[in-house]
Amino acid sequence: MSTTESTPPLDFIRQIIADDLKAGKNDGRVMTRFPPEPNGYLHIGHAKSICLNFGVAQEFGGLCNLRFDDTNPTKEEVEYVESIQEDVRWLGFDWGERLYFASDYFEELYQYAIKLIETGKAYVDDLSADEIREYRGTLIAPGKDSPYRQRPVAENLDLFQRMRAGEFPDGARVLRAKIDMASPNLNMRDPVLYRILHAEHHRTGNKWCIYPMYDYAHPLSDALEGITHSICTLEFEDHRPLYDWLVDNLPVPYRPYQYEFARLNLSYTVMSKRKLLQLVNEGFVSGWDDPRMPTLSGLRRRGYTPEAVRHFCEKIGVGRRENIVDLALLEYCVREDLNRRAPRVMAVLRPLKVVIENYPEGQVEELEAVNNPEDPAMGTRKVPFSRELYIEQEDFLEEPPKKFFRLAPGREVRLRYAYYLKCVGVVKDETGKVTELRCTYDPETKGGYAPDGRQVKATLHWVAAAQAVPGEVRLYDRLFTQPAPGEEHGGDFKADLNPDSLEVLRDCRLEPSLAGARPGDFFQFERMGYFCVDAKDSAPAAPVFNRTVTLRDPWAKIQQAGKK
Ligand code: ATP
Ligand code: MG
Repeated sequence: MSTTESTPPLDFIRQIIADDLKAGKNDGRVMTRFPPEPNGYLHIGHAKSICLNFGVAQEFGGLCNLRFDDTNPTKEEVEYVESIQEDVRWLGFDWGERLYFASDYFEELYQYAIKLIETGKAYVDDLSADEIREYRGTLIAPGKDSPYRQRPVAENLDLFQRMRAGEFPDGARVLRAKIDMASPNLNMRDPVLYRILHAEHHRTGNKWCIYPMYDYAHPLSDALEGITHSICTLEFEDHRPLYDWLVDNLPVPYRPYQYEFARLNLSYTVMSKRKLLQLVNEGFVSGWDDPRMPTLSGLRRRGYTPEAVRHFCEKIGVGRRENIVDLALLEYCVREDLNRRAPRVMAVLRPLKVVIENYPEGQVEELEAVNNPEDPAMGTRKVPFSRELYIEQEDFLEEPPKKFFRLAPGREVRLRYAYYLKCVGVVKDETGKVTELRCTYDPETKGGYAPDGRQVKATLHWVAAAQAVPGEVRLYDRLFTQPAPGEEHGGDFKADLNPDSLEVLRDCRLEPSLAGARPGDFFQFERMGYFCVDAKDSAPAAPVFNRTVTLRDPWAKIQQAGKK
């Protein structure tokens, strides 16, 4: 059997790596890195980068490092460093012993800066931040040289050492590369390499009061780690000449190359960490791991599986063109995974009591229910059936419209795995609200089929009242009402927050098998969607379930429409 015909073509990154290997570059090594800045939790966009960097390393017999780009002491926290490691592991990737921090290289980076100064390729500038901006010019006007650009090497060395020694206040001086103030690429107009910042760093404490800029630290960290393919998102394309300039002008142990791909954008979602932090800080969500957040910790708590997220990343592929992926595709991926693996159970979210008048009081039958029709190996379980049950409020209408086929006065339906049930009476409270249904069942229809061939048009799920486990269920909807949050409000994404993104149902009735459910367990509640046990708020005596996704699949419809 040949699989070559069905193998999809390599994406451009994998093609480059395959070609490099064929050409014998890098001594046959493949070394990538995932370089998060620890200033927030990872989101689904990062998952694309993680799957790509760790994925290609695995596929080409290489290695992938986890490196924290912790060059900015003021925004970074240990909490983020820990959550990021947890999330990468959860996604299923392993950096082995290769956990690195850019801050581990501060001394080497400093020595490289000295080298640049000594070779006349960097200088200390006394211009203020505003003046530097002014001197830089614009896309259409060239910049002009700083009056400090021609400082002698010895003076630069002295000043840079004194910057490190803490002699100057924040912002007094910077170290700049001496490249070309007339370059058409603004990043090449003597970019700043070091700034003075008297701030405590989460790893180096107060050892340093000068900090390297990202554009300086990143290529050199890559070089120090022997990275062969430094994969990043397209906004760094214009920074590549600086990346190359640095690794070409310094005696680095390895010469890495940068390749850019299009970042993931998802409809109905914001992904910038700055925006996600606002949602957290301003209380629009309960935290970084709120199940409505596009963070990996939020998706995990919502019930997304790593398998589903990885499959999603595979499906969207890797290219160089910016686009917006439909959130429905992500939901499709989790639905597909859970459909295969989630045990089916019955749970009534908005209970309506049913009393079966002709069912013997005190009798309990154990009926056999299938755990997963997609996977017979998952077996069966027993569910109790008795005289008093709960069904879903929405499954009954006193005056049903034409297309409503579920329960109504005088009408017969099937109870899943049980019997035919007929509504013979309705009990209401003083406001006229239906509080109870009086019904009869047909003992001849055990298993849900009538020996006389009589048909019903609906099958309802149900839970036996006395044996039911009470629980809380949280229903989630998309966090934003618009596909591009903020677009119609001058960027104010919070104006498009969905006020109905969370509905909490506190009086749900679950089948007894759910009493043993543990945090992270997932289920299909028949007809209601996929749910998981909330990892934070659930307790054995008071279970809390999050709805991961509904059963409806809008993605299939979108695909159909696209084909027409
Ligand atoms: P954000 O813009 O969301 O605040 P960031 O780019 O500042 O994120 P980093 O911690 O620097 O976040 O990102 C680590 C890596 O993940 C980088 O290589 C970055 O290019 C990549 N990355 C970030 N967002 C996305 C995305 N939406 N799609 C693909 N890769 C991404
Ligand atoms: Mg970044």
